[in-house]
Amino acid sequence: MAKPVVDEATCVGCGACVDACPVDVFEMSGDKAKVVNPDACVECGACIDACPVDAIKLA
Ligand code: SF4
Ligand code: SF4
Repeated sequence: MAKPVVDEATCVGCGACVDACPVDVFEMSGDKAKVVNPDACVECGACIDACPVDAIKLA
């Protein structure tokens, strides 16, 4: 099962992934998105589509 990974150097802290994820995989940690619940990911791709800077990968 793939797990979402945020490239913190690329993330601009917009929060779109937090809003997009149907299973609350992400939380904001300061001005970066953090993966807090990777095992819940259902690989829907919504976070990847929502991220404006391509900071999220499924790895
Ligand atoms: S792929 Fe879907 S379920 Fe997985 S972290 Fe992204 S939005 Fe959430
Ligand atoms: S959508 Fe992308 S840029 Fe925005 S908080 Fe999430 S990882 Fe960061």
